[in-house]
Amino acid sequence: SLCMDVLIFYLALRALDTIEDDMVAFKDTPEVKIAHLQSFYRTGLVTDGWSMQGVGEGDEKVLLEQYSRCVSVFKSLSVGSQEIISDITMRMGAGMASYVEQDLGQGCVDVEAYNLYCHYVAGLVGEGLSRLFTSSGYETDRVAAVSRTLANTMGLFLQKTNIIRDYLEDYVDGRTFWPQSVWKTYALTSDLGEFAHPHARERALACLNHLITDALQCAQGALEYMSLLQTEEVFRFCAIPQVMAIATLAELYDNPMVFSGVVKIRKGMAAQLLLDTKSMGGLHKWFNIFARQILKRVPPSDPNAAKTRKVCEEIIALTDRNA
Ligand code: MG
Repeated sequence: SLCMDVLIFYLALRALDTIEDDMVAFKDTPEVKIAHLQSFYRTGLVTDGWSMQGVGEGDEKVLLEQYSRCVSVFKSLSVGSQEIISDITMRMGAGMASYVEQDLGQGCVDVEAYNLYCHYVAGLVGEGLSRLFTSSGYETDRVAAVSRTLANTMGLFLQKTNIIRDYLEDYVDGRTFWPQSVWKTYALTSDLGEFAHPHARERALACLNHLITDALQCAQGALEYMSLLQTEEVFRFCAIPQVMAIATLAELYDNPMVFSGVVKIRKGMAAQLLLDTKSMGGLHKWFNIFARQILKRVPPSDPNAAKTRKVCEEIIALTDRNA
């Protein structure tokens, strides 16, 4: 019975993201893009017949053109769900708007800006879902109580994984989120694109491993969040993306292919994870396996080796018994 709520929540945020990601439609009018992002929660989200033309591509373009189909379903949801979806859509739109006029060609300014962007686009999803889980009665008040803390951390874990993986694609698009305060300590030039050159290989890998170590710091909070869930379907819904994330981090760790293409986990692996993440045992098993895989591959000369080993050992200690 939560399917429609989650579906509409997803499509509303997908609509926002389509506006955010369109780098052509609002090229000369960033103020129009900002206004759309800030007002979507009181325009598109709730207005019968609302439509936006010429923004996005493919199915996302169709979503905006025919968004009013979502409006009627939104209005059939409980008042509680509508309030949660509207609140998160408002705050995410405002957050995305605050990054529109920032030049992200060389990434975020610092780790604070990186964390804040991840909060807006993924942490808020964790918050909204947690509130939906509780308001629907599938989860207790304990889950809503951590909607701004542990649920945010869980969102950051997923988002950071994507940002790290998408290095090349985002750099080529001129919009990346790798924090300058981190990558500039590894680069010789002031261009993030330097890491794509084979001669920068060692420094690029050190930077990559630094950011992966940072993302792994979110794993413990994510696991703590999972320990509060009691409904199996809710558990699986949250656990599968997290297992995929730690599997992806293990694939990305110390992997030079991040700088020459898109690194993904193999389809068979993804299928296995999907089928085998049903309970705390499955979740802990996979976190344990991938933390061990990373631990084994920490290069002794890596500048963050001690930190990486420590966080992997913490994840292993936390999951050993259930695994
Ligand atoms: Mg986006």
